[in-house]
Amino acid sequence: MTRLPTPRAVIVIGGGIAGLACAWYAAQDGHRVTLLDRGGPDGDRCSLGNAGMIVPSHFVPLASPGSVKAGLLSLANPRSPLRVAPRFEPEYLRWCWQFLCAARRSRVALAAPALRDLALLSRRGYEALHLLWPQGVPLAEHGMLILCRGRHALHEEREAARMAQRLGMPVEILERDAVAALEPGLDMAIAGAVRYPLDAHTVPQRVVSTLVAGLAEAGVDLRWHTEVTRLRRDGARIAAAVTSDGEVGGDEFVIAAGMWSAALARDIDLPLPLLAGKGYSFTLRSPRVRPHACALLAEARIAVTPMGDALRFAGTMELCGIDPTIDPRRVAAMIDAIPKYYPQLGPADFAGITPWAGLRPCPPDGLPYIGRTRRATNALLATGHAMMGLSLAPATGRVVSDLIAGREPPVPVSLYSPDRFAREHGNARASGS
Ligand SMILES: Cc1cc2nc3c(=O)[nH]c(=O)nc-3n(C[C@H](O)[C@H](O)[C@H](O)COP(=O)(O)OP(=O)(O)OC[C@H]3O[C@@H](n4cnc5c(N)ncnc54)[C@H](O)[C@@H]3O)c2cc1C
Repeated sequence: MTRLPTPRAVIVIGGGIAGLACAWYAAQDGHRVTLLDRGGPDGDRCSLGNAGMIVPSHFVPLASPGSVKAGLLSLANPRSPLRVAPRFEPEYLRWCWQFLCAARRSRVALAAPALRDLALLSRRGYEALHLLWPQGVPLAEHGMLILCRGRHALHEEREAARMAQRLGMPVEILERDAVAALEPGLDMAIAGAVRYPLDAHTVPQRVVSTLVAGLAEAGVDLRWHTEVTRLRRDGARIAAAVTSDGEVGGDEFVIAAGMWSAALARDIDLPLPLLAGKGYSFTLRSPRVRPHACALLAEARIAVTPMGDALRFAGTMELCGIDPTIDPRRVAAMIDAIPKYYPQLGPADFAGITPWAGLRPCPPDGLPYIGRTRRATNALLATGHAMMGLSLAPATGRVVSDLIAGREPPVPVSLYSPDRFAREHGNARASGS
């Protein structure tokens, strides 16, 4: 039997999927957990309107040679799925430079197996959560299809599939007829597809509300509408989170505040480069097409996820500042693209949709920040998951709780060190850990 660690007071900042998962695993270890979030339990955050895909297939980080090419092409096209808006602030330019440095084949080769292992650990975490809450954490294990309209995209996806095979990931390359057999009754204008059978999908808003209820039941002190304005230091440690409702002291502090984590990290002198990757989604309540598996429309980079009777479309990655406004041109570009894959759908199907926007927390090298920092002996980071926050949440919670307990995490985590950019600037201050 695994011995439980000595109970400690663990303060988790942020009630998105990353913070909820950290709070859950820490509570399972018997710690006294307090979760602080400036919004309400159902307040809008990136973790609610996303595509709900649990995708071990996404082992190539955003910082890759392919993204650089797509980013450069987007400079001239405000409707392109990946959009790098030209800006001249130093922080933004530094992020772009760090992104370019990381987007090398050799780095992708190093990161891919690590991301695969983290994602597979998380996949197993979802299986366990689904067993615990079969309705609250639905897990549709039908795989994920990457639908390609043209031969060029199919060729590129086949190349990626070969990399997956080299990494030991199951993958199927399918001709058009084979895809049709998997989705009977669904008309698809495609040349073919690549299928990742280990991928799955869920309903993110249901997972979030189930975890919130589960945490309350487990005795976690959930403090909504409590904004952390500052982290107060005492020497090498964080003494307290200064909040809109007074100070909250603790033994360990987990910063899981999504896009807003960088501002909190500054209080412990930790440079945490993050850029918001704005994405949009909209949901058809009674769709005329009902796919079985979730899918990615390759050229349009749009995710399509069945959620009960509804169908959600999500996409675009607009690297920007903290700006949740919705650009109708980008939503229109998504609506224009979808019928090119599903000819049964037309513009009328999307009349009256309510677009949603979320800000993905994107580090320049495409790897999350998970683990302890040398900047404060009792601080841990759990953020920067970019397009993978839902997928990687259980593994993030598990790793963070292992580190709090002093256990070795089940997968290597050194690549996710929150200090990696501090080190790069040669200014990391060892503070006793
Ligand atoms: C369109 C779209 C589609 C996506 N699809 C997928 C997908 O299919 N699969 C996948 O794995 N990922 C997907 N993602 C990415 C995923 O949604 C994110 O990576 C994830 O939600 C990030 O979770 P988080 O907990 O880090 O941040 P958030 O959900 O943003 O939560 C951060 C929380 O911190 C709180 N907070 C911030 N600052 C403070 C403060 N100072 N004090 C107190 N509280 C604070 C906020 O109120 C918020 O509740 C998608 C994202 C988008 C935009």
